[in-house]
Amino acid sequence: MRQAIVGYHTDDEGHWVAKLACGHNQHVRHQPPWIERPWVVTEAGRRSRLGLELECVKCARGEPRDHC
Ligand SMILES: [Zn+2]
Repeated sequence: MRQAIVGYHTDDEGHWVAKLACGHNQHVRHQPPWIERPWVVTEAGRRSRLGLELECVKCARGEPRDHC
């Protein structure tokens, strides 16, 4: 199920986490060379991705909403 990004925060290790419209959180890590997502480390980049839809595996699994 595809869900729009509605906000962001960082986890305890400083990795970026997107908050999705469904209430689930999904990591949007930038960890080169394995995961290249340079837009996530700048505020302008994150703002430009608001509303972008990500595939939410938690919805597919029927998991409860995340708390933060
Ligand atoms: Zn979801």
